[in-house]
Amino acid sequence: MIGIYGGTFDPVHYGHLRTALEVKELFGLTELRLIPCYQSPLKNSSQATPAQRLEMLQLAIAKEAGLVCDSRELDRAGRSYMVETLASLRAELPDFALVLFMGSDAFAQIESWYQWQRLFDYAHIVVMTRPNSKTPPLSEFLKNCLTNNKSELKTENNGKLFFQTVTQLDISATAIRALQAKGHSIRFLLPDNVIDYIERYKLYQS
Ligand code: ATP
Repeated sequence: MIGIYGGTFDPVHYGHLRTALEVKELFGLTELRLIPCYQSPLKNSSQATPAQRLEMLQLAIAKEAGLVCDSRELDRAGRSYMVETLASLRAELPDFALVLFMGSDAFAQIESWYQWQRLFDYAHIVVMTRPNSKTPPLSEFLKNCLTNNKSELKTENNGKLFFQTVTQLDISATAIRALQAKGHSIRFLLPDNVIDYIERYKLYQS
């Protein structure tokens, strides 16, 4: 099983990294690919350049076996549509179960993603939720994909929706950028080598 974890990562932080590590272990993933977008179709442009966001991500996961950076969305440029990313991964990995991981905030908007129903033609979706959170109301399409049986993610290669509780740290890239712009400390919210990079390139200053 190969995991996919997309995001802007502007910058990557412990909210991303802790959940990535947990799902890698919980699902026994062969690898988890962190895929920075070039341009999110639903967000304003990033502040750091795509190349800088990729470099920060590489620094953050350098020592973590099983977490890998995949730069295909940066290579493709333009708007980063996840359905295109999954289609290209599926073409390279025809025999693997693919699992797209996303936070519940991202999942709340899933039906506004470009060709969202086709995501399930290529991968399963696992929504990373907070402990004790309720399953949100689902459309008929999503209800038909829903399973409570994790083992189905192994027996099928795509098409299932599953909710997984993870440790969610209340950290966001937005808050980190705001702290940095105010000249406040961002220590303990993201890895030190990423902070050094932010300082060196004077990122997120007002
Ligand atoms: P921003 O604040 O700039 O909107 P972000 O911190 O939410 O960014 P993204 O790169 O947009 O980070 O998020 C990528 C993925 O990581 C999404 O699926 C999102 O739900 C998830 N994610 C972001 N922050 C956390 C967190 N603290 N805990 C768990 N998952 C997170």
